[in-house]
Amino acid sequence: MSPLRTRRAPAAPAPRPSALRDGIAGARERLLAWYDAHRRELPWRAAAGETADPYRVWLSEVMLQQTRVETVRRYYERWLERFPTLEALAEASLDDVLKQWEGLGYYSRARNFHRAVREVAYAYNGEVPTQPDAFRALPGVGRYTAGAVMSIAFGRPEPLVDGNVRRVFARLTDDPDPADGQLWELAETLVPGSRPGDLNQALMELGATVCTPRSPRCAECPVADVCAARAAGTQDDRPARKPTRPVPHEDTAVGVVDRGGKLLLVRRPVDARLGGMWSFPGVVRRRGEATVRAAERSVLIALDVEVRACERIGVVPHAFTHVRATYHAVRCTLVSGEPREVGCDGWAWVAPHEVDAYALPVAQKKIFALAVASALPAPSG
Ligand code: SF4
Repeated sequence: MSPLRTRRAPAAPAPRPSALRDGIAGARERLLAWYDAHRRELPWRAAAGETADPYRVWLSEVMLQQTRVETVRRYYERWLERFPTLEALAEASLDDVLKQWEGLGYYSRARNFHRAVREVAYAYNGEVPTQPDAFRALPGVGRYTAGAVMSIAFGRPEPLVDGNVRRVFARLTDDPDPADGQLWELAETLVPGSRPGDLNQALMELGATVCTPRSPRCAECPVADVCAARAAGTQDDRPARKPTRPVPHEDTAVGVVDRGGKLLLVRRPVDARLGGMWSFPGVVRRRGEATVRAAERSVLIALDVEVRACERIGVVPHAFTHVRATYHAVRCTLVSGEPREVGCDGWAWVAPHEVDAYALPVAQKKIFALAVASALPAPSG
């Protein structure tokens, strides 16, 4: 059976039986021709006929996960100024890497990419492995990333499925909730041929620019004649929207310790949320626990020093993917002890003019700004 099969009898105008039977070869050709004519110029895309640089392709694919193209453009170009080659990235410190990633979110992507690039530098003599299995064994490399890098950089017929491709396939097959296995099977069927990288990019580009989540522009679509959802008039309902799950909320008390105009920051343990980034000490408030007591506890846990809470300085909300956080910033003064790395990977007293040297998540930058704005002027004389 053709992978472009439908699950129910299509209403007129139905795809021609011959188009469905011969659908794959024709769809592949039309997708490639459409891609040649309509592809966007993106900084990580090699010009037609040129070979893509595996490091740049890999970097762009990691950045594009969970992030919009327009945002990635800025980060991508700035990144390459700082780390123009795989070797330059392999030699960089994690602090440097996270600083360049600062603001992009999902920092585990940066940590894993850095680890993987180091492995390539040392175990593969700086050459990105061209074998899919070897590449997939690197930290943070999943099936999607492997498909993208193998096909785009090395011309290997490796399939990929991302959110855009899933939507296109759900519509081509008029399936409200296609299983992952079916999606990858269809991608595997389409990808063989002389230009697997372009074919994969054509599918993603189609989803991003024509077969969009709302109001797909079917009149401009190169595979409209084999699209079962278009025939059935169900495009807007494919794939079916999943009910949104309630996102849990947590209140986090943050200890802002001030000494002589400098604020005490900690480097988060690498395996924690936002691992390797700098932040104020913070803990999720326990049920019934006063915010000020939780803020004092946060500093004790991170640095083994006793502090006394003296004023609440503001609230910063932040939405992560799986949790909504509300940070309650509390100014504290040192009572006893010297900071030690007991619940963190490092600490530093940071003056406002020094903070740009540290990689801080967005919410922590806001807390830092609040703390500076609300600070009493240092006593004179
Ligand atoms: S015909 Fe419309 S719904 Fe079908 S793949 Fe093309 S743009 Fe998407």
